[in-house]
Order: sequence, then structure tokens, then C-alpha cells
Amino acid sequence: MTESSQYLSPEERARYARQLGPGVLTESQQLRLKHSTVLVTRVGGMGGPAAQMLAMAGVGRVIIAHGGELIEPDLNRQVLGSEAGLGQRRAPAFGDYLRSLNRFIEVEALDYEPNDEQALALAEECDLLVSCAPTFGERLRLGRASVATGTPLIDAAQWGMSGTLYASDPARHPCLACLYPHEPPFEEYFPVVGAISSAIGSLAALEGIKILSGAGVVMWGRMLAYDGFLCRITQLDAHFPASRCDVCRRSRQK
Ligand SMILES: [Zn+2]
Repeated sequence: MTESSQYLSPEERARYARQLGPGVLTESQQLRLKHSTVLVTRVGGMGGPAAQMLAMAGVGRVIIAHGGELIEPDLNRQVLGSEAGLGQRRAPAFGDYLRSLNRFIEVEALDYEPNDEQALALAEECDLLVSCAPTFGERLRLGRASVATGTPLIDAAQWGMSGTLYASDPARHPCLACLYPHEPPFEEYFPVVGAISSAIGSLAALEGIKILSGAGVVMWGRMLAYDGFLCRITQLDAHFPASRCDVCRRSRQK
């Protein structure tokens, strides 16, 4: 570790001044963020704000993964894009935007959704995985990568005006396959309001900041369900099923 990596520079102290102090982060916790790597899969309505807040908070290496081009219906929620980007590939443009927010971090933008092998390789180099993908297939894939590598996972999901958030350290908490033993049916064009995407994405980032820095209390092993339509918040403790799921049997600690 170089000398510069053991301390915050005066410029970094100034950048993070409002999040350093009692009730937020200590300088050593901010340094932990600086030396952390996070993967956010899909950086649309939820993953966009999640990646943005992780980048602005000072996570040293933020990897985003999202294929495809920005299209008109994305713009009710995808905060990393704008009308100027319509028709362009999301990942390169979103990566440039994130880099423009914080010169003290690295941003890597992958122009695809990782397959099994790629998810596993990415998980090996990450301290935290944040799934903001719309499909159960992608969410469960990242869940398997989390378990196989012992990397903590935050899973964020949304529908309509509602969303859920779950945080798992695979050595200690049920994995996504424990929670969803059978992949539920998926409708490609489900309704969603940007305000809930952004709220759940920001909460995912907050849990991520605590996990990576060691600050505060993490919602480990709990699912937060926010029904924004009826304005109801529920928290549920997740429990391992009676017999460990196939994925969890392969768990190892990082
Ligand atoms: Zn499991």
C-alpha cells in the first residue's frame, strides 16, 4: 500500500467533509470505501442512483454492467441518462457521467449483462455485489456468484410504486435461491415509477456504504418491502429453508 493510499488527501477530506464525523463515517471507514470495489448490475432506475451514490460517497472502484441502448421509456426513471443520450449505448455514457462526478475514484463500464462465468469472475474481484436487475434470472445468477465467492450481496427489486431490498452475507444468511427456490414468471414490460426506483436504489447504496466502510448497522438477512402505493413498510427476517438449498451448500467465506 502506498503512503497516499493510507491517508485521505486534503482534497479528499474536503470532498467528503459532510460525511465524515459522528454518526456518519470515520476517516478510516472512508479509507475502507476508497479501497473497495463494488459491482452494480444494471444501472437503470435503481442501479443508476445506487451507482451514483456509491461513486459520490467515494467507493474507490465502481463497476457497472448494463447492455443496450437508452430508449424513450427509460427516461421516466434512469437518472444516469438524459434525452441527449437517446439511442446511444448506456454503459459508456453512464460510465462517463459517473467519472464526471468524482475524480477520486475509478469507474469501469461493462456494456453487457454478465453471464454465469463473467458474474463469477467479477464477484472474485469485488467486495460487494449490488443486483438491480429486472429479471429473476440475472438476480439469481448474481446470487449464485455471491455464494460461490463469499461476496456479500444486496438485491434490489421494484414493481409499480413498490420495491424490496435484501442484504446477504452468504456465509451467514439465506441466499436468493433460498428466498426464491423457483424462478417466478417475469413480464418484460412491467410498470414502474421512477421515484420508487430511485428510493430503493439509494437505500441499496446506503447499505452498500455501511457494508464496505463498516459504519452503522446493516440490514443483514432482512428484507425490506416498501409498498409505495399503499404507503406501507414491512421488514421480514429471512430464514434458511429446512434443508439448505443447492446454491448454499457450495457456500464459502471470503
Ligand atoms: Zn441458499
